[in-house]
Amino acid sequence: ARRWYYNRFTSGALEDDTLVLREEPLRDPGPGEMELRSIHLSLDATNRVWLSDWDIYMEPVRVGDPMRGFLMAEVVRSDNPAFPVGALVTGMHTWSDRFITDGTGFVPFPRFPGIPLDEAFGVLMIAGPTALYGLMDVGRPKPGETVVVSAAAGAVGAVVGQIAKIHGCRAVGIAGSADKCRWLVEDLGFDAAVDYRDGDLVEGLRAACPDGIDVLFENVGGACLDAGLTLMNDFGRVVVCGLISTYNRTAEVVPGPTMFRNVIMRRLRVEGFVILDHLDRYPEFQGKLAGWMREGRIKHRLHVVDGLENAASALTLLYSGGNTGKLMVRIGAE
Ligand code: NDP
Repeated sequence: ARRWYYNRFTSGALEDDTLVLREEPLRDPGPGEMELRSIHLSLDATNRVWLSDWDIYMEPVRVGDPMRGFLMAEVVRSDNPAFPVGALVTGMHTWSDRFITDGTGFVPFPRFPGIPLDEAFGVLMIAGPTALYGLMDVGRPKPGETVVVSAAAGAVGAVVGQIAKIHGCRAVGIAGSADKCRWLVEDLGFDAAVDYRDGDLVEGLRAACPDGIDVLFENVGGACLDAGLTLMNDFGRVVVCGLISTYNRTAEVVPGPTMFRNVIMRRLRVEGFVILDHLDRYPEFQGKLAGWMREGRIKHRLHVVDGLENAASALTLLYSGGNTGKLMVRIGAE
């Protein structure tokens, strides 16, 4: 079997030897255990955070540990009655093609009629629930309000804007290229999109948000967060979902937003969340999202990289903007 390990602490962008792929023998499953064959690996911005020296929201991955990730896999041998041979499962484990587990952290992969497995894995497991919970429960937008989302052409952001539209809001995305902005407006139905690499972001956003911003769904931090804070309306809400522009800045003090004063000037509510705290609501979230996907009201794009051996280089795409839509690795056939 092959498995990725955290080889060397790295501050800044991940380097070629930060993670290393090793070949290792696979033992037989013991009592109550099973062997899983990986099919899809989700690459998530937070994977970089797990390798950092920050005080984070869960156990970090330590140097010498296998790299951790979220997988869909098939049971190929089993001494665990909860997981028969042939069953599909999903859960958090290591970046590996085959492995032995007692099933801790795995659940049967839920089936969504009419939605292919890769799309169900890519959209309904992490990105969709994050977008739905963050926007509706934390952001609480009202019809007619303006919702701005950063990293809008990414896995979470693309869904946020479309849910905002479903709820009668004006949806404005911030993304890093003209092509991404065009995709958001022409294919996904965003009202406007602003390319943060082209011109002054505050002025671009101001033009795209003539009535100001009521809900800022923040995925990026840094200059994006500052631009959003600048244009917030009174009693606006800032949903702090992610701060990806800072994730390669481990071992460094990351400067705070310079427009934080608007939290008081505009009487904002600023709230962070971690979707893993809300797994109990997954059936509700997935039911809604799957319905919208079937109706064509939530469209998306999967950015699939083939081969476990390419997982580490693929992960860096998230921090350079090399992905459009949900980034994942196909490890084995469905
Ligand atoms: P995405 O698919 O959104 O990919 C990340 C995107 O971020 C890139 O495509 C890039 O797009 C943009 N980006 C990267 N670096 C920068 C930068 N320096 N400045 C501006 N934009 C940048 O990844 P995910 O959907 O996995 O994650 C999106 C966000 O959601 C992350 O912040 C992540 O941490 C957060 N998240 C939070 C969860 C929670 O429970 N709170 C759960 C899941 C995700 P571009 O070309 O536009 O620059």
